[in-house]
Amino acid sequence: MGIKIGKKVGVDLGTTNCAVAVLDEKTGKPIIIPNSQGEKITPSVIQFTEDGGVIVGSEAKEAFELGESGCTSAFKRNMGKEGTYCSFYGKSYTPVELSAILLRYLKEETEKVTGQKIDEAVITVPAYFYSKERSATMQAARMAGLNVRQIINEPTAAAMNYGVNHWRENAVIMVYDLGGGTFDVTLVQMKKDSQMVTLSTAGDHTLGGKDWDSRLCGILKQKIWEEAGISSSDYPEIDRTVTRSAEKIKKQLTERREIRVTLPIPGYGRFTTSVTLEEFEKSTRDLLEKTGNLCGSVLADMNMGWEDVTDVLLVGGSTRMKQVAEYLEEKSGHTPLSQVHPDEAVALGAAIQVHQPLPEYTVVTVASRAVPDDSRKNSGLFNFKKKEKVSEPKSPERKYKVDGPVGQEISFDNALKMTHVDVAAHAMGVIAVNTEGTRYINKTIIPANQRIPVKCAEAFRYYTSAKGENEVEIYVLQGEREPLDCQIVGKYVVSGIRHDRTQNPTLIRIQYSYDLNGVVHVQARQGNDTRDLPIREEPVPEDMSKYGRPVEQEEGELIAEPISAVMAVDVSGSMSGQPIKDALKAMCNFVDQFRDYEGGVKIGVIAVSDRSQVVQQLTGDLEKCKASIRSIKSCMTGVCNAGHPFADVLRMLKGEEGKRVAIVLADGVWEHQDTAIEAAKKCHRKDISVIGIGFGSADEKFLRDISHGDMEAMLVAQSELVHSFGKIAQEISADRSRGKHGRGGADSDALTWEAPDEQRK
Ligand code: ADP
Ligand code: MG
Repeated sequence: MGIKIGKKVGVDLGTTNCAVAVLDEKTGKPIIIPNSQGEKITPSVIQFTEDGGVIVGSEAKEAFELGESGCTSAFKRNMGKEGTYCSFYGKSYTPVELSAILLRYLKEETEKVTGQKIDEAVITVPAYFYSKERSATMQAARMAGLNVRQIINEPTAAAMNYGVNHWRENAVIMVYDLGGGTFDVTLVQMKKDSQMVTLSTAGDHTLGGKDWDSRLCGILKQKIWEEAGISSSDYPEIDRTVTRSAEKIKKQLTERREIRVTLPIPGYGRFTTSVTLEEFEKSTRDLLEKTGNLCGSVLADMNMGWEDVTDVLLVGGSTRMKQVAEYLEEKSGHTPLSQVHPDEAVALGAAIQVHQPLPEYTVVTVASRAVPDDSRKNSGLFNFKKKEKVSEPKSPERKYKVDGPVGQEISFDNALKMTHVDVAAHAMGVIAVNTEGTRYINKTIIPANQRIPVKCAEAFRYYTSAKGENEVEIYVLQGEREPLDCQIVGKYVVSGIRHDRTQNPTLIRIQYSYDLNGVVHVQARQGNDTRDLPIREEPVPEDMSKYGRPVEQEEGELIAEPISAVMAVDVSGSMSGQPIKDALKAMCNFVDQFRDYEGGVKIGVIAVSDRSQVVQQLTGDLEKCKASIRSIKSCMTGVCNAGHPFADVLRMLKGEEGKRVAIVLADGVWEHQDTAIEAAKKCHRKDISVIGIGFGSADEKFLRDISHGDMEAMLVAQSELVHSFGKIAQEISADRSRGKHGRGGADSDALTWEAPDEQRK
């Protein structure tokens, strides 16, 4: 038929209907390629015939509606699930195989119509699709002989199609996509430089036109019972008859407010009644409200309200229902409703994307640490704060403000002038043990609505065993709820971890990523290696209930790590008298806390004011250490605070194994704070935990700046010093477990994946 096109296509692989589009070479705008019967839309229905034939599209749909055998539909709903979806004539088919048949048909039809071989495709999926469903879609495409450039989200594609003709800088578009079996809502903004950015997305996998159909079935059956006095227990055929006509009646109700319905009921005869739009709307209002709530939640994610929405885009066949537009106008108030072609917009947008450059990875740090059930928090005496502030979302886009007024509407003469940045609908997390070693948690690695593709690396200490059972199990989750309420992406077993007695525990770095298709990947490395450790994907065990129970002993088995701690005490003039006495007492108390510590401890002491002086090198002799502490006098290193202890700290802890900590007690304001902070940062970079603790007129910000690691000290009253030092000792000596899982705690100091921190000596 000779439509001249590129060899790249966009494919809307819908649950109910499919469409294929390309960019028109002449106009630079996307157009739909009809199938060989001239239809722009191909129903996602397949019929297998007894002689081994396969029929796809309208003909199969008709056969399906007539109740012929060998027909199957809606298999997209089961994408990503293992096992058979249907069996005909001795052969069984998985959802992936069925999708592959459909895709192959679409590919061949398009090639037939255009006379050109297709060499690349962008395929769309619901934004809410999990990693598994996306992988399954890729697999189906490969089986169909399609080379997939990218999997993109349906609402994204629809918005791109809309943007070509209705570009207005700063406009916020709500894409409301109600299809046959799924509902998706996505917020997209048109930004500077013709860039379309997805802000946030949500959806319901199990909500779609089919649900409206089944409500209509309910209405019809009720009428049959009330008006004819019969039910499906008298005439079993009623169910089938009603189911078959429901969709048609629903569609007629988008044209008229009331329709006459005649249903042939085998064995009974014809039953005639009327159905009104009002009845239909009333019985389906809750479904509409479900969609409305999801719209509200994507807005809330962005700290936005309905008033911030410039346009609502209606996508998907079910948005043809009158009540959808009415409901959304009600919700969005003055906001105009904009239409794209509900059946074609997704494929048209995909055709734009297939010509776009592939996006680059962004790198983020671990999103949040699960909040530990932390008794210390309420102790009042000493306020430890976890460094990671869970309540504040990392991504700046989450607290969203539209900047500037909405610009004039323009239309692009070439669709390629527009680019797009997409996000992942689901947070990615892992099953981890909480900091207390008591409970399994879902530790979020990458939050929801993070731009994709995206990578995030974390590291944790792993205790290797000489016996060689050196494997780490990682269960990757999608979702933000408790582990067992989330979608389990897979079980990844990291192996090949080398045992090295002198380096025990070893650092394991894991890199998690969402690729440009929204598919999850996991990589692991040991220490500062640049080579990946082998990872094998194992089937997720049937019984995961273990992760809903308290942590078992083996998993919670505790191991004490060697500790090297240096205490630096401010001995400037302001400390003279009671302050220095209290400080020295607190330091001795600190030392005493390690009396029974099994992992081995070494403690050193520094006095600092105008200069830093090592009073005690690291020693395991705790009595000797206390004697050295008692020998400290105020002003022994000068009256003022011109010095800092961090160079000595670094030197003393260099080469020490296990946990390395410095506790710096400061009074008043130090003279060269910037120099001190710089020097403290050198310690941080060497993975030394620094705890700044102060009283009197100490500078809280300075204390925070020099601190690093699991704990952050605050200002405390002089009378609390003894108690506070005791608490620090307890925190430092808290045992770690050697489970196969990572921890929810803060030992996962973020390391970058590409350029690991300098080698620890
Ligand atoms: P999917 O994205 O799941 O493939 P579509 O976007 O093609 O689905 O929408 C299919 C749904 O739209 C079906 O539930 C169908 O009944 C519904 N639909 C199509 N036309 C109309 C109409 N005129 N009135 C109401 N619903 C319609
Ligand atoms: Mg669709």
